[in-house]
Amino acid sequence: MEKAVQHKLISTALKAIPLGSIKPQGWLKNQLQIQADGFTGHLDEHWEDVGPNNGWLGGNGDSWERGPYYLDGLLPLAYLLDDPKLIAKTKPWIEWALASQREDGSFGPNDLRQENAILHDNQDWWQEMIMLKVLIQYQEATNDERVIPFMEKYFSYLQEALIQYPLKEWAQARGADLLLSIHWLYEKNKDDSLLDLTEIVREQTTDWSKIFDKFPFWRKQEQWDHRTHVVNVAMGIKTPAVFYRQTNNDWEKEAVYKGIESLMTYHGQAHGMFSGDEWLSGTHPSQGVELCAVVEYMFSMENLVRILGDGKFGDILEKVAFNALPATISEEWDAHQYDQQVNQVICNAAHRPWSNNAEANMFGLEPNFGCCTSNMHQGWPKFTASAWMATEDGGVAAISYVPCNVQTLVADGKDLEITVRTEYPFRETVTMEVNVSESIRFPLLLRVPEWCVNFEVKINGEVQNAIVKNGFARFEREWNKDDVIEVTLPMEVKLEERNNEAVSVNRGPLVFALPIGEQWVKVQERVRFHDWEIYPTSAWRYGLVKDATFTVEIQDIVYQPYNTADAPIKLVTTGRQVANWVMENNSAGAPPLNPIPYRDAKEETIELVPYGAAKLRIGEFPVLK
Ligand SMILES: [Zn+2]
Repeated sequence: MEKAVQHKLISTALKAIPLGSIKPQGWLKNQLQIQADGFTGHLDEHWEDVGPNNGWLGGNGDSWERGPYYLDGLLPLAYLLDDPKLIAKTKPWIEWALASQREDGSFGPNDLRQENAILHDNQDWWQEMIMLKVLIQYQEATNDERVIPFMEKYFSYLQEALIQYPLKEWAQARGADLLLSIHWLYEKNKDDSLLDLTEIVREQTTDWSKIFDKFPFWRKQEQWDHRTHVVNVAMGIKTPAVFYRQTNNDWEKEAVYKGIESLMTYHGQAHGMFSGDEWLSGTHPSQGVELCAVVEYMFSMENLVRILGDGKFGDILEKVAFNALPATISEEWDAHQYDQQVNQVICNAAHRPWSNNAEANMFGLEPNFGCCTSNMHQGWPKFTASAWMATEDGGVAAISYVPCNVQTLVADGKDLEITVRTEYPFRETVTMEVNVSESIRFPLLLRVPEWCVNFEVKINGEVQNAIVKNGFARFEREWNKDDVIEVTLPMEVKLEERNNEAVSVNRGPLVFALPIGEQWVKVQERVRFHDWEIYPTSAWRYGLVKDATFTVEIQDIVYQPYNTADAPIKLVTTGRQVANWVMENNSAGAPPLNPIPYRDAKEETIELVPYGAAKLRIGEFPVLK
């Protein structure tokens, strides 16, 4: 008997692999360790907002997003590094959250003396949405049996509570994050009543599908509006795909692509993100991009590649992860910016034409506002956990070529281990070693980046013919122990055209910038995590000479490759100082459309480094005619 057709969730093209199955190696592991030794492993000791008095630990301090935000990065980091100290730090938060559930199913820091939640017209559901994302990762890492019943009880509570107190403000803009958690639970328990809740939430969430289908925000925005708030937009871009799973509307799937194209056209920046120094801010390379937007856009790309199965989202994910993320955090992960600029020639407290305050581009503990201080931690850990995914038909897919070890199940439950050895994206080759106990047939998908023209795959030394679909090359065969896959991703220097004939320099997924000499000046001293201004000690106003060539210089990769002096790869080219390029509003002015060289300035050899390494830099250049 066939069941009557019911409303169901459309399957995702790829499936996430549980947290802990993909372990970082090489330079990526070092990034995670650096973050554990810096902010992520020690923030609770030095910043009261996530300290023992946080509301999510039963205290009377911050009870909104900061605790859950912190855990959303600390928890995956702890399990990816298998670090007992960090895991111990997550425990009180998890235990408190699970124990906080009330009779009616609600949870979180309300007033625990009450049996039930006390709701009011300004009820904000946002902080709970974050904690649900934390609990999902916790369940995947530990299989703790309490999580699923906890979520079932909470969602059955929400079914009524949301009708009376609908999503508003932040929660309304970010409803897709709640849907991700409901979808996750539905895939575990197949309880159809959850599908009613998904419709309630979808109807209450900002209609990002409509916004991205016909994008209305063409210019720099200056007024309060959740639809142009840069973090909301970075989160919102996944929403049409999340909705599509429920509505099956192809136009919503398309809205994701149209939205990304519009964002890049009207607000795009050289590092693959769009600007927003609070609100969407246009293409000027001195506008800011908030760190929260960087990590949330990465999370959106991780979900988009999972739901839609298009490698294009892996390309964007890598570009943002390898460039925008390290650029805005100090080498030792002990200071960060709220807003980064592509052309960042000075970081100091000064008024700039953006909505954030004068301190927003300084490096420190909480410049401008503490959201990024608590939210930045999810970037590398979730990226690591998403580097590989499972296919619908029992195989695996490489989303990113970062060094890692993957242990997962393929072909109906058989063990597979793949070790990925590489220094990609600082190098062009990747070696994968397959470990299986018996020969197993399954498909292996390798992402073919759009920038890569001569992508090559060898299996056990033999060059393969790849059929590329949706940005992935598929290799279905009997895999045996010790099979070796060698992937070569030749990287060419490509100039990307920016506004007014300026250019940015790309090689593979890396963006290259001219580093400016940096003098770090401590402006506020604390026990740890000080605040800094950075002043330039060398000239910045270089244009590139027309048709200049680029020579690649390679150095050994060091513990922290995002470092100007020891950059593992440099591009040597020719530049010349430009006379009509000046400071405006405490930043570099827009690259001049008709750059005029200084009469006395000769052509000079200049060295470009990965964008993420240089904290003062030029990332968008005028070109001398
Ligand atoms: Zn932020």
